[in-house]
Amino acid sequence: MRRQADLLATLVNLAAPGRSQGSPYTPPPAGEVMALFTAELSGHHATALRAVPHAAAGLTDLAADFREVFTAPDLAASVELLNALIARCHALPYLTRDTGQPYHLHFHGAGDAVAALGGELATGLALVVDSLGEDRFGLCQAHACDRVYIDLTRNGSRRFCSTGCSSRAKTAAYRARRA
Ligand SMILES: [Zn+2]
Repeated sequence: MRRQADLLATLVNLAAPGRSQGSPYTPPPAGEVMALFTAELSGHHATALRAVPHAAAGLTDLAADFREVFTAPDLAASVELLNALIARCHALPYLTRDTGQPYHLHFHGAGDAVAALGGELATGLALVVDSLGEDRFGLCQAHACDRVYIDLTRNGSRRFCSTGCSSRAKTAAYRARRA
């Protein structure tokens, strides 16, 4: 679940224009988003993704669809979009055993590697909501940042995209108290 959550936030934050940690953010071209993202994947997943025709465009579209889950006006709307993504990617749970590892559950979508990834990431976020509770994902609350985060903390306290934004917000709050 942590792996899928990390990949999902990375993908959305790479591809979405907006503001990142206090500065304007313009995403690199789709090909570069794809190169940066596949660098985070294991070898065979990266190879499978690169083999898909128009994978870079597909990945950018997927990132935009996922971002809407984070920017929807309320949780019900987010969940509706997330369920639609799970259905569209035909995410199917199955047990698999990678070399030397115990059986564990995968949710690769059916279809090409982009759909497979979409199914895996969408189901991963659904599992976060199911197992950890509501209010577990959102947009960074720091000033001039709209990057997404997924909160896997035990007490559900995360509100920032990064430690950088967390310290910026703490400093701002401290200054506001002093003023
Ligand atoms: Zn942030």
